Amino acid sequence: MMPDAIVKALLDGSVSVEEALSENDEHAFNTPDHDYDPAWDYRVIARPHPRVMHHVGIVVPKLVETAREIGMGRPTVHYVRGLGRGAVAKYAHGTAPHPVLLIDPHHYRKLDDGHMHWAVHTSLFHEFGHAIEDWMGHGDKPDEEGVEDYARDTFDRGHLSATHDFMKRFK
Ligand SMILES: [Zn+2]
Repeated sequence: MMPDAIVKALLDGSVSVEEALSENDEHAFNTPDHDYDPAWDYRVIARPHPRVMHHVGIVVPKLVETAREIGMGRPTVHYVRGLGRGAVAKYAHGTAPHPVLLIDPHHYRKLDDGHMHWAVHTSLFHEFGHAIEDWMGHGDKPDEEGVEDYARDTFDRGHLSATHDFMKRFK
């Protein structure tokens, strides 16, 4: 619900204040304050490798849950080619707090399921770590070792507790 629609609904009594607030939060969570389209910079893949999509589909709810937990907006993942310099995934700089994450499925397609699960998870959480850095005002000096440790930590220890620890460095 849009904010003006919420006011109208409150005035005519069709929603409670609590409902209106939570719908407003949900709207804010889902609606990016940017209109970045990966097609401006990369070749968007319409039909990615199904096994890669399967493993990305396991990680996305974890990214969304993490974003909610820390008060960020909804992250989105897009399949592209041509990230450059051998990159397998990337955070589209400046898109936080509704981070756009890009992944090139071509690099993963030959991995067996176990390795693919690990590689897709750590790649996406690595890029999500860059999104957090950017969101916290450190986007201009990315800490590659720091975000890679964070990505591995989300796999080994769980994404929520790893993220809480990662956030401490920005306090
Ligand atoms: Zn990186």
